[in-house]
Amino acid sequence: MSVATYPAEGAQLGMVDSFGRVVDTLRLSMTDRCNLRCTYCMSQDMEFMPRRDLLSLEELDRLCAVFVARGVRHLRLTGGEPLVRRGIMAFVNGLTRHLQCGDLKELTLTTNGVRLREFAKGLAAVGIRRINVSLDSLDRQVFARIARGDRLYQVLDGISAAQAAGLKVKINTVALKRDNADELPTLIRWAHAGGMDITLIETMPLGLVDEDRTDQFLSLAAVRRRLAQSWTLTDLPDRSSGPARYVRVAETGGRLGFITPLSHNFCDSCRRLRVTCTGTLYMCLGQDSSVDLREPLRHSPNDAALHRAIDHALVLKPKAHSFATPVRGAAPALSRHMSMTGG
Ligand code: SAM
Ligand code: SF4
Repeated sequence: MSVATYPAEGAQLGMVDSFGRVVDTLRLSMTDRCNLRCTYCMSQDMEFMPRRDLLSLEELDRLCAVFVARGVRHLRLTGGEPLVRRGIMAFVNGLTRHLQCGDLKELTLTTNGVRLREFAKGLAAVGIRRINVSLDSLDRQVFARIARGDRLYQVLDGISAAQAAGLKVKINTVALKRDNADELPTLIRWAHAGGMDITLIETMPLGLVDEDRTDQFLSLAAVRRRLAQSWTLTDLPDRSSGPARYVRVAETGGRLGFITPLSHNFCDSCRRLRVTCTGTLYMCLGQDSSVDLREPLRHSPNDAALHRAIDHALVLKPKAHSFATPVRGAAPALSRHMSMTGG
């Protein structure tokens, strides 16, 4: 008796969801742990996943190979803080085989930059071209208050090391009404003067944190209107594999992105899946539906069960997230933190 293989020989791989969206982008969380505790992302006393539940680097590598075979072309490693995962360099090095054979167009990383100086040269040497660094303030005290860690100078030093190693750096900044609203033009000017794109992000109601998000939520529609009072912003057709919409700032010459899940929903063109460090596949950052990949990964000798789980996930990928503008005192839209799902 022959054993059926999956996908059947000659069958088309590739990933299309039930709304016809081609999925070619994966965000993989390497760990839910972090060396900072940003107030909008985590609570001070976070409970992390037990280590036994984490996928090993070998399991993560196998998972990536399956997703690349299914048509993932853009792979971003994130977290938590990916650079605190032990063995990360060897792992990244292993993944570059998918770049070398041309299956993967882009392998990138999102980091808080604290350990970037240590890794910058190594990342560039194995073939990483671009990284995202999150930075919410250039003021030491404000940075320390937001990140609950006095690490601004380490992050700035890490960014310099990355640029010196030849990595293209994009800055991600969460717009926070109280903490950095007035500083946003300074951050934009600074990034552009350093040859970096910068993307502003609206806070999303993910997981319980210690403060009320209504105190910090800042609509980027309002930020854009304010910036347009002193700068000339021209819409650009440029699209990355992410949800940012870009403008050119005439006065600085640089590119500015807006990620606006709340003030302007971007789900129609979503091409992303997310996998947590414990092997849970989320089809949407802003919905709870998920599919477990750890069981098929650990208990199935070939990849057939993994492929079936991914097919199931594609059917379940929702049309849109269900975030709403935060309401004072309301529970977060989703109980899991961004550091779990991977930003
Ligand atoms: N630790 C790395 C870092 O900070 O870049 C990678 C993981 S972090 C979860 C990825 C991105 O998500 C960061 O740019 C961070 O600012 C953003 N982020 C975290 N929680 C968020 C939230 N609740 N709303 C919006 N963005 C958030
Ligand atoms: Fe850590 Fe990144 Fe979350 Fe800040 S945003 S706590 S750096 S995972």
